[in-house]
Amino acid sequence: MPCKCSVPACRGNYDEANKVAVFSFPNDENLRAQWLRAIPRKDFNVTKNSKVCEKHFKDGEVLRLSTFYIEKTGETISAPMKRPKLKQNAVLSIFPGCPSYMSSPSTVRESPSKKRQRLEEEQINLAVSESLDSKLGYDKKIMFTNFAELQNCVKGHSFSSFWTIVEKNEYVIFESFF
Ligand SMILES: [Zn+2]
Repeated sequence: MPCKCSVPACRGNYDEANKVAVFSFPNDENLRAQWLRAIPRKDFNVTKNSKVCEKHFKDGEVLRLSTFYIEKTGETISAPMKRPKLKQNAVLSIFPGCPSYMSSPSTVRESPSKKRQRLEEEQINLAVSESLDSKLGYDKKIMFTNFAELQNCVKGHSFSSFWTIVEKNEYVIFESFF
């Protein structure tokens, strides 16, 4: 199996039983430095094949749901992503198999069911805020308050063949011929 986890003592993605999502090192220098500081190994050498698996991130930092806004129906749907994504600026903090002092102190333990519920809520909240963003983006695309914005809307919209659009500098004509 390709792309094993590079973190010392981690078996992430080594075999079928340890199949997990892996992530590449961030390109952002600052964030990459934070990752390297977090990994409990002094001589860690990042290559383009170095990967880090999902076990090292807090649950809320691994995003598994993707949200789509469907313009035609105005609906928002969420679906599990084929490959989970990392939340922006997520940094490794959990190192199973390493002495516990190497992991950053965890907060108060939650019961598994409470944790599951909290994670679900977090995913849903995130999905909702993302879909609101795309809804706003869509509204912006179809709204206009002056002629220049109308011209922009017309440019960005694909009209059905029913309409013939005539765009001029000072007017736009929507025609349909029966
Ligand atoms: Zn790992």
